[in-house]
Amino acid sequence: MQGRRLVVDILIFMLGIFAVGGRLWIDQAEAVESREGKLQRFEYASAAMGEPLRIILYAEDEPTAERVAQAALDRIQQLNDILSDYDPESELSRLCQQAGTGQSVRVSEDLFRVLAAAQRWSERTEGAFDMTVGPVVRLWRRARRSRQMPSPSALEQARQLVGYQNVLLDPDRQTVLLKKAGMRLDPGGIGAGYAIDEALRVVLKHGINRVLIDLGGDIRLGDPPPDRPGWRIGVPGLEPKAPPREFLLLARCAVATSGDAWQFVELGGRRYSHIIDPKTGMPLMDRCSVTVVAPDGLTADVLGTAVSVLGPEKGMKLVDQTPEAAAWMIQATEQGVVTIASSRWNQLSREKPSQTEKSSPVGASAPEPRTTSPPQAKTDLMLPTKPAGASPP
Ligand code: AMP
Ligand code: MG
Repeated sequence: MQGRRLVVDILIFMLGIFAVGGRLWIDQAEAVESREGKLQRFEYASAAMGEPLRIILYAEDEPTAERVAQAALDRIQQLNDILSDYDPESELSRLCQQAGTGQSVRVSEDLFRVLAAAQRWSERTEGAFDMTVGPVVRLWRRARRSRQMPSPSALEQARQLVGYQNVLLDPDRQTVLLKKAGMRLDPGGIGAGYAIDEALRVVLKHGINRVLIDLGGDIRLGDPPPDRPGWRIGVPGLEPKAPPREFLLLARCAVATSGDAWQFVELGGRRYSHIIDPKTGMPLMDRCSVTVVAPDGLTADVLGTAVSVLGPEKGMKLVDQTPEAAAWMIQATEQGVVTIASSRWNQLSREKPSQTEKSSPVGASAPEPRTTSPPQAKTDLMLPTKPAGASPP
């Protein structure tokens, strides 16, 4: 997250006085007359966990809106101090420094909750999702920077350290033991999801319900804007700059997109994603994007990564077995562009596509469609919102 954070910090610095040091920058405020009386729409932008952060909420006045948005940001920053794998002083980094010493480490409730959830998902996905991919992710990040493939021996060494079975959790004592020296836990596929869940909790506690929180493409939604059926969320295809494939109308759930649209490296004419198959230590190589809707941010975040690794068949089966989850995947294979939807995907509320924009059926080959959204409709968010990972860390 650090490199991206740097880029974001620079952008924020360029924004000047608006958003320095974890402050919020107010983007837009607009009054809405609704049945609930006068509510105003406030939109805040900042950065946290190395990702752009956007909070849209409806409140009666600006001081309230700002107080609530700031409280949400503070909570995310508190979690970054715990979960960052770049900050050597974070609780996660300090835990990893104890790997292989035989020492059980007592950790905070937040860290324990994240690790316990990760462990459950590793078991459910038979290791397709695995936070212990840290050493391998690190090698590929270096490859992105140096534009050189990692050596086979370095890869093999890193791969030996991967395996969620080497993380021992004791829920009674809230302790963690990392069995092998050199193990590193990577929060990249779960931390943002947990953070937006916690940020939403803070917002609701302040009595604000109509809220959208977007942390670098991991989105948590409260109630919809006044007098609207849902937040209008654009689902991306494979091309980062192309308009959304379709628009979902969602509330009280989470949405996340996993994909290599922004984060990849090309080496020797092959494209390597930032998502790793923990079994092989190799990055995914088919271009692919997965959008997941789930009841909470952590589930959506993890499922996005897990489905990417598992591939369409096993991935969609996992989504179908997850209560209230739905997903859509687009993949560029040698046979062409293939899309596949989980069984609940087509039941999600959405804006009716026009004739030219019909979503292609499961397994069909389709060119990137044009967007034909009605000009008067407002898009609350297009996934992913910004090229946060455009410059490799
Ligand atoms: P996401 O963008 O949510 O799919 O998360 C991708 C990030 O999760 C990567 O940048 C890595 O930091 C981390 N990661 C990569 N592969 C895996 C994996 N198989 N399991 C868990 N985390 C992973
Ligand atoms: Mg994710």
